[in-house]
Amino acid sequence: MKLVILGCGTSTGVPVIGCSCGICTSTEKRNKRTRASALVQAEGINILIDTSTDLRAQSLANRVERVDAVLFTHSHADHIHGIDDLRAFNIIKKGPIPCYGSSETLKRVRTIFNYIFSVDRVISWRPELTLREIDSPFKVGGVEVTPFEVDHGDSPVLAFRIEGAAYITDCSGIPDESMALLEGLDLLVIGALRQKSHPAHFSIDQAVEASRRIHPKRTVLTHLSHNVDYLKDGKSLPRGVEFAYDGMEIEI
Ligand SMILES: [Zn+2]
Ligand SMILES: [Zn+2]
Ligand SMILES: [Zn+2]
Repeated sequence: MKLVILGCGTSTGVPVIGCSCGICTSTEKRNKRTRASALVQAEGINILIDTSTDLRAQSLANRVERVDAVLFTHSHADHIHGIDDLRAFNIIKKGPIPCYGSSETLKRVRTIFNYIFSVDRVISWRPELTLREIDSPFKVGGVEVTPFEVDHGDSPVLAFRIEGAAYITDCSGIPDESMALLEGLDLLVIGALRQKSHPAHFSIDQAVEASRRIHPKRTVLTHLSHNVDYLKDGKSLPRGVEFAYDGMEIEI
């Protein structure tokens, strides 16, 4: 199984529009971050986690040739606004793409992208998607996916365990029931916004502390803001913990 970090940026992306800080103007490639998303390749299928605002650019940059299913973490704009780019994958797949999410997320997706789901329109210029509500483990092809909830400020967000990997994006707390599903991980991908605390996201220290409790073999921090310098700040991370970068490929 392989997990590709398609984007490791927070909602603004990095560089931030109009910002001339040291990180936004950095020439280090790994300080350029598109909106958070990942691709899981297992059992011959491609599972996309979130349709980020930058889905088209990410698909081209990482030569994503198929999307067999989509897992939605939540309905914030940075995680769903690339949904229309799924049209290209409908053409390749020659059929609808199943999209999995919580009932709340799917309700929001249906409302925000009304043009996709309304029945009175021609189908050719909109993606063809099948929304599937999930609240317990399910299978996509031969791949078992276990969804679990984490806190994101005062709203819940879905995270996913797939074999030995867990992907947790926007997160400010992990309930005990979810912690119990995270034993024996080879890889933990977890959101860490910046050094300073934030009501809806873990800081770097908080994400590192969560990683210490979960104790995976490898931890990759994602959903990073323009306060994080890949090289400079990367040096102070503990052993086994590293920053994600766009295009990072992790074999599990
Ligand atoms: Zn986000
Ligand atoms: Zn900046
Ligand atoms: Zn969010």
